[in-house]
Amino acid sequence: MTLLSNASQWLEQLKVALTGTRQKMANVSSCDDSQALCAFDFEEALESVESGLLKADVGLDTSDEILKHVRLRQKKIMSYSDLRHELSDVLGELLGESVALKQSEGGLSVILMVGVNGSGKTTTLGKLAHRFKQQGKSVILGAGDTFRAAAQEQLGVWADRVGCPIIQKKPGTDPAAVVFETIQTALKTQTQIALIDTAGRLQSKTNLMQELTKVRLAIDKALGEQKALATVDVLLVLDAVTGQNALQQAEGFLASTGLTGVVLTKLDGSAKGGVVFAIKHRYQLPVKLVGLGEGLGDLADFDSQLFIQALLPA
Ligand code: GDP
Repeated sequence: MTLLSNASQWLEQLKVALTGTRQKMANVSSCDDSQALCAFDFEEALESVESGLLKADVGLDTSDEILKHVRLRQKKIMSYSDLRHELSDVLGELLGESVALKQSEGGLSVILMVGVNGSGKTTTLGKLAHRFKQQGKSVILGAGDTFRAAAQEQLGVWADRVGCPIIQKKPGTDPAAVVFETIQTALKTQTQIALIDTAGRLQSKTNLMQELTKVRLAIDKALGEQKALATVDVLLVLDAVTGQNALQQAEGFLASTGLTGVVLTKLDGSAKGGVVFAIKHRYQLPVKLVGLGEGLGDLADFDSQLFIQALLPA
């Protein structure tokens, strides 16, 4: 279920959010098929695609892979509109089916947010809490960022705003203990969704990454026998504005927590939406959610077909 239940509304919002990225891709449509003077040259057109992909921050290796597949379809490509069509197909194959958030049937659904500072973890958590409450579900928040008092306060504000309980401990508490208590409380109170924040950390800091591994293990431990019924999503929150730099973050987090997906935030302020393709290509990680602004409703389930539609210039 998307917050914006209507697909065309999603598409419009996404189109606005991706304006910058789409402009970078605009070379693909730089020539109008109807202009007789504009003879179609496959190699030249492919070069323009490559430059568009790179400007949209798809990255070199992913861009090469995309071009390789477009080349395999050369026989079908006689015009710019053929090219757009085949490119759209290739991008669709690369992204594959959209992957939704896990949702337990009859048990607890746990969502753990990880990522570097400022990527949008707490904001996304608040937006998700709002979404689930709107759907009539019971939600509990876990303030697993025990490092900064301000982060706890920020999450507390979200809990008040949305109207859901929050488990908070004093700064410096072991985050695994907070997570353990959040899950146990959720189970005791038969809450449907547990949303857990963690402190921002750099993927290069080994001890902090080990702390995350501990947090992840605490979830399983607290679930105990309920584990069979529960689902756990570990989402890496990446700021789209940082483009290819965001990618380097994925590696460290993958190793320590077993990520199940990505939230790509700030697509509204970025010209680098192409990083979605690189995330999937390099790490086989699906983007599950996208942040399209700072408002409560500016969060959507990722839909690969709509994303490509919004990305490619008409
Ligand atoms: P955290 O440190 O990872 O918890 O990051 P925060 O949730 O505190 O977010 C950092 C900043 O990014 C805040 O000013 C948020 O309002 C902003 N932010 C988060 N998500 C989005 C988004 O999708 N779009 C925009 N424009 N800003 C966002």
